[in-house]
Amino acid sequence: MAAGQRGYEACTGCSLCLLACPVWRATRDIRLTPHGRARALQCGATADELAASIDACTLCGACEPACPQDIGLVAMITGLRAELARHAPARVASVRDRMNDRMAARFAGSAAEIRLLPDRALAADPVLLGRVARLFGGDGKVSVAADDGSDIALALEAGAEISEARLERFLVPLRGARRLIVGDGMLVRALRGWLPAVRIESLGVAATCTAAVRDRLRASDLYVIEPRAYHADQERLVKYYDALRLALGCSMNLDLQRLAIPTTAGCLPAALGRSSVDVRDQARWILEGREFARIVVEDLNDIAAYTAVTDKPVVHLAQLI
Ligand code: SF4
Ligand code: SF4
Repeated sequence: MAAGQRGYEACTGCSLCLLACPVWRATRDIRLTPHGRARALQCGATADELAASIDACTLCGACEPACPQDIGLVAMITGLRAELARHAPARVASVRDRMNDRMAARFAGSAAEIRLLPDRALAADPVLLGRVARLFGGDGKVSVAADDGSDIALALEAGAEISEARLERFLVPLRGARRLIVGDGMLVRALRGWLPAVRIESLGVAATCTAAVRDRLRASDLYVIEPRAYHADQERLVKYYDALRLALGCSMNLDLQRLAIPTTAGCLPAALGRSSVDVRDQARWILEGREFARIVVEDLNDIAAYTAVTDKPVVHLAQLI
């Protein structure tokens, strides 16, 4: 839990978190919300009893900045998932294979001061990854980490154990970096805690700071913010994205509380086919009543989600250059 955040004991049952939660929108089941979980925990419920609720969370992080009590709602879920995994290790067996795939990766050594950690989807698209690297200066300035930590991001999301040795192997080459540009929103949040001395930015923020991307964004675009990294630093980023929105004249997937509405396309429950949120329905709802000529996404997972529900072009921000 981040410094200053409070535990579930502080929940007053105000329900503000419900306004932001895609699981609430899809199910209208309060037991599957932060409100429901916090109140149940206050009344003595165990993690095992809350398993369905804990599993349902997409970890979009939107509830956290919405909560007036500053409860660490993301850490609450990852902590409860870790507790469930300790009680029943078989629960995380299905993600272990995916994690092992990535364990074999090694860091591509380089003296570059900027390290780019692509998320799973971007790492699987070498052409787009090359464009992203060129956006930040290309060879010599940027090195792409072959060890992108995607197994660690997955473990964080699933509540699976990360061995100290594995974490250290991941972090050692990153400690010398001046700046880390990180594609996975779960890792952005975790890396800030692990490497407080390193400047860590989400791919979306880093890319929209470049003239190459800014010059190609249009007022008629709907710009889709990746929610996890945004909500992990919402107090600061709300100002950044508001300034960007006003400068460009484009619209964004922000609600009236300035929370980034997620499609939930990249979350673990969706990947496992167990999500209570219908990604297409969520994407359709985000587009409802919005005028736009093109959708620009920070998260590659969102391309399929939006393409399924609109005929307008949907591009990743690296495809703008
Ligand atoms: S992280 Fe997202 S899905 Fe999970 S409880 Fe919060 S708003 Fe709902
Ligand atoms: S917003 Fe915070 S205090 Fe209010 S119900 Fe949700 S978790 Fe509890």
